[in-house]
Amino acid sequence: MAKQQYCTRYLTIYIGFSLIAFTFGLASNAKAQNYAWRKAIDTLCSPAMHGRGYTNNGADKAANYLKSELIQMGLFPIKGKYGMQISELINTFDSTVILKAGKVNLEVGVHFLPDPACGKFEGTFKLFNPDPSQLENPRYQTKWKNRLQSGKYWLVVDTLGKETKTKVLQTFGANAAGIVTVAKKLTHSFAQEQGKPEIIVLPTAMQYRSKKWYLKAAPELKAQVIQNVFASTKPITDTSKVILITAHYDHLGEIGKTYFPGANDNASGTAMTLALAKHFTSKSLIKLPPYPVVFVFFGGEEAGLLGSKAFTLSDIIPLGNIKTLINLDLMAGGSEGIMMVNGDTEKELFNKLVRINNATKTVPAIKSRPNAPNSDHYWFAKNGVPAVFLYTMGGPTAYHDIYDSPEKLSFTWFEKVYSLLVGFVVE
Ligand SMILES: [Zn+2]
Repeated sequence: MAKQQYCTRYLTIYIGFSLIAFTFGLASNAKAQNYAWRKAIDTLCSPAMHGRGYTNNGADKAANYLKSELIQMGLFPIKGKYGMQISELINTFDSTVILKAGKVNLEVGVHFLPDPACGKFEGTFKLFNPDPSQLENPRYQTKWKNRLQSGKYWLVVDTLGKETKTKVLQTFGANAAGIVTVAKKLTHSFAQEQGKPEIIVLPTAMQYRSKKWYLKAAPELKAQVIQNVFASTKPITDTSKVILITAHYDHLGEIGKTYFPGANDNASGTAMTLALAKHFTSKSLIKLPPYPVVFVFFGGEEAGLLGSKAFTLSDIIPLGNIKTLINLDLMAGGSEGIMMVNGDTEKELFNKLVRINNATKTVPAIKSRPNAPNSDHYWFAKNGVPAVFLYTMGGPTAYHDIYDSPEKLSFTWFEKVYSLLVGFVVE
């Protein structure tokens, strides 16, 4: 995304500029350093949290940690509780997935990933990489459909060739016992179902296309506990109007012993939310937010926004009581500014953040885009809550892979974004 021109933005003179700058200055005298956010990120990304997924109770460990942080800061429970939980089916990779091309051992996360919906399999197979020029040839089709049905060959679906992908799947997909997808990048996620055995490989793996391959994968479609953790700066009742600051703490867990640290996604947003919780419980605040602030840490986001959906269906907080919801995800960037998802609809919130940013010159740009089901604000926005999702731009490029680790992040903009958010909440 192109960088927005600083100078033209900041040359714009707004009525009340100095007043905004003044009130904001007072509000933001607290620094994120008041909370050990770096330590929180390291803790959330540590091997002990197992990638905050469903293997080794990683997500539960993270939820317990967040609960104890909120209690320690002196936040209040809601309806006597600091959390809620649901149960959902998730395809879970408790044991290591082994993939060999000939005698070469391929490494999970580095050379390949099982597809999230990958089914159980143990055995050998060869690769069938269809010749695009033969796809319409009936004899070619029949020959390979039979071979695929025998299970001796698996279908190669090369996503690098744009048009052929759909054609290949349409022609041979139903007959294939297993699928090998070639992709430019290994990107993991969760599935709530189990299909055929399927693996995703980088293009370099195709150098072994003539070899006999071996796969051992034993994922299980299991009921997993998904927890949301929450607390409020003040005791609230069923009629209290509130501001919600939310972030998902879950990530992609592990595949056997390989884990996904999820530093930018979303230990960064979780730590930002913890830092804000610490700030808004301070006794010496000069400018208070207009309503009690409720902090919610969602689970199950990576499995399809499951925790936040359950929250909107629960009676924890009547949705009509939520004045504003600010969802934070991917907070480790900022050099290219901040994106507000659903800012196109929530124009007042968008204009407010732009106004504060223009007055404080915090980040290079504030941009907006339409609502999308890409984080936990989604179900709230769909149900009429003024909800926006903020993510930083110009951050690390690792995404849903084993490389999204804290030591690779610079967090140069973290404090700045933090002070901007404090201003945004109190204005
Ligand atoms: Zn994610």
